[in-house]
Amino acid sequence: MVVTRFPPSPTGHLHLGGARTALFNYLFARHQGGKFILRFEDTDKERSKEEYVESIISALEWLGLKWDEGPYFQSKRFSLYQEYAQRLYEEGKAYYCECSKELLEARKKELQERGLKTRYDGTCRDKNLSPAPGRALRIKIPEISEIIFDDLLRGKIVFPPDEVDDFIILRSDGSPTYQFAVVVDDITMGITHVIRGDDHISNTPKQLVIYRALGVDPPLFAHIPMVLGPDGNRLSKRHGARSILEYKEEGYLPQAIINYLARLGWGYGDQEYFTMEELIEKFDLQKVNLAPARFDPEKLLAFNGYWIRTIPTEELLPHLKPFLTNYPFQKYSEDYLIKILESIKPRVKTLKEMAEMMDFYFFEELSYEKELLEKYIPPKIKEVLKRLFQDLNIFNFEDEKSLELQFRELAEKEGIKLRDLAQALRIALTGKPISPPLFEVMKCLGRERVKARIERVIKLREEVE
Ligand code: GLU
Repeated sequence: MVVTRFPPSPTGHLHLGGARTALFNYLFARHQGGKFILRFEDTDKERSKEEYVESIISALEWLGLKWDEGPYFQSKRFSLYQEYAQRLYEEGKAYYCECSKELLEARKKELQERGLKTRYDGTCRDKNLSPAPGRALRIKIPEISEIIFDDLLRGKIVFPPDEVDDFIILRSDGSPTYQFAVVVDDITMGITHVIRGDDHISNTPKQLVIYRALGVDPPLFAHIPMVLGPDGNRLSKRHGARSILEYKEEGYLPQAIINYLARLGWGYGDQEYFTMEELIEKFDLQKVNLAPARFDPEKLLAFNGYWIRTIPTEELLPHLKPFLTNYPFQKYSEDYLIKILESIKPRVKTLKEMAEMMDFYFFEELSYEKELLEKYIPPKIKEVLKRLFQDLNIFNFEDEKSLELQFRELAEKEGIKLRDLAQALRIALTGKPISPPLFEVMKCLGRERVKARIERVIKLREEVE
């Protein structure tokens, strides 16, 4: 059975690059009917924060990347790492080292100055030191030739024999180093496939050496290209390496983020839009593109518009509600809200934009700017509005097409341009010279609200005169 994992370090929020790694692991596991595990690599006590654990969890939940096991926390598994380290020590595959930090630093500096690779020189390798305070445990690298592994995407990757030195696996305070904890976790969690960013290729030889020492077959590795910013540099805060939750707050749908991230460096023919179900069905690691993917914020925005238009309106509504909190929307029926959403959803790219466009629907007494009233409702049009008031009782409000027809006839009869009449009505109904299509607005508001707003605007207009 396939088992994948997403192991974020909780030293920051989940951003697009991390979310894509999580997504690929999730899709691969789901496609194979396997398991997806969440694990927090929080051994760095200084930088790991509970706040980030929480925000990463909410971001994954919001995206719908449900894990089957975990979350595990490395900080709670120290005794397990110590057990594995002890085993290596007892088998003579690891040894204690008493070299002081200062000494190691000085040697490292010297090697660096001579332009040489910085490696541990093996001072304590054959001293047979027993565990004692202040001593770290180092892995004893056997005389090995090259380190080779077959990356699922890149094929054979070869590292020279001197790539790895006798590195520390357990620090003198008993805490595991990053590489060691990762390997022990991947072994004990039964990970079969490690799908991660290609910035981790350089960690792989060290990890392979640990697998070998522990006598365990390593998992399969697939190193996926990094996500780059639009300018080709590493994705940074500047180009939107923002938290996934910030996208949520800006009015993005999880469907859009998922779809966009999947398409970022992966494809299935020329299909552009995928639901999560389709992605699970069609995901194939071999189709991941090896060229680094560039993040394109405009494209993400376009995907968001697409998914706002496409998901059923009933499903859209709960995503929109958090953006309506400035409006007394609870006073209105679900039917009213659904009608409004259907009218507005083809015209926006974010939920925030959507909410901003629908303010006038939730206030029965709009405030009108005096200039707008004067400009768009001159006395002649005001008289037409007064006469129109009677007709409204018999107009059909069921669909915008017949409303338009009825208003066209009225304008003709009154000898005015439909455009002028429409603009006056727009001001009356929305308070603004720009709004969603007028007849759709009327249909959504319904006869009684339309009448009330026109009546009120006539009164206000007369007060201005
Ligand atoms: N904790 C690592 C990170 O956040 C992931 C390591 C791995 O996938 O092996 O980049």
